[in-house]
Amino acid sequence: VRNDTVASAGEHALIERVRERAGAPPVWVTVGIGDDAAVVEPERGASIVVTTDTLVEGVHFRRDWTPAGAVGHKALAVSLSDLAAMGATPRASLLSLALPADLPLADFDALVEAFVALANRWGAPLVGGNLTRTTGPLVAGSTAFGSVRARRLMRRSGGRPGDEMYLTGAIGAAAAGLATLQAGVDRATLSGNEADAVQRYERPEARLRCGTGIARARAASACIDLSDGLADAVRQIAQASGTGAVVLADALPLHPAVRTWAEREHGDAARLAITGGEDYELLFAVRPRQRRAFLTAARRCSGLPLTLIGKLTAEPEVLLERNGTAEPLGAGFTHF
Ligand SMILES: [Mg+2]
Repeated sequence: VRNDTVASAGEHALIERVRERAGAPPVWVTVGIGDDAAVVEPERGASIVVTTDTLVEGVHFRRDWTPAGAVGHKALAVSLSDLAAMGATPRASLLSLALPADLPLADFDALVEAFVALANRWGAPLVGGNLTRTTGPLVAGSTAFGSVRARRLMRRSGGRPGDEMYLTGAIGAAAAGLATLQAGVDRATLSGNEADAVQRYERPEARLRCGTGIARARAASACIDLSDGLADAVRQIAQASGTGAVVLADALPLHPAVRTWAEREHGDAARLAITGGEDYELLFAVRPRQRRAFLTAARRCSGLPLTLIGKLTAEPEVLLERNGTAEPLGAGFTHF
């Protein structure tokens, strides 16, 4: 056994390395790492929101492509994105790792450090988790806890026909970033929009300021994050709300890297952006009479653009309108 792998360190030493990196917890964590369980106290009148996600080597990342720090960052970012979609403020996080014995200790440390850095940045300190050895691929699972007042909670099901759909940021970045990595482009040579796309694929940023800000203003009727792509998100909101939807292709905020990709590959930029997963933007449904309150709250989302991309409809179909004709919006990314 090499003396710089997780197997050579042993479980107790690994937990100690996690504890050192996690640092001291904030006041709402009354029992942190080191007991059988953590204790997190919610504020009076708040609901606890809980979500969990798993990243699996070979399915979500490749150890030969993906820096260990990116795995740690993304493992938590995807859960924080779910909290953002519910309008919840992050409060605590858990990290569960299945470790191949030959994983270098330096990779273990980098993964934990990136997870903790993101956790602390959003006030969701790492308060526990689990470590196990595996004979299979590296698995990084996160659980995130948030809190939100019940009347501010945003769900997928609150939309109505006539509601406008607004999208944060730009879509297609993660799909373009993944396509760039798959094409075997040397990441040292990347710059500009392509480098940004790879960064967004590997280290997505949960839109927490926007999600909690709009929830606080109670300006949206429904919200979802784009973990599995825009097509899937629109479908999920429409289905949960009992509506259809029309998305306007010309209105979509496409990341510049997806246009570059489409030109190079003679592909369909809008299609890739719509069906590609992992952008982790937020999609909101907004009543027309709430538009002004929504846009006011949105302006405080730290400079993140919000784009009107279509609306919910009484007809049950979920459509993409482009060049004056309507086509089915199609499906997003599916895992199976
Ligand atoms: Mg989600």
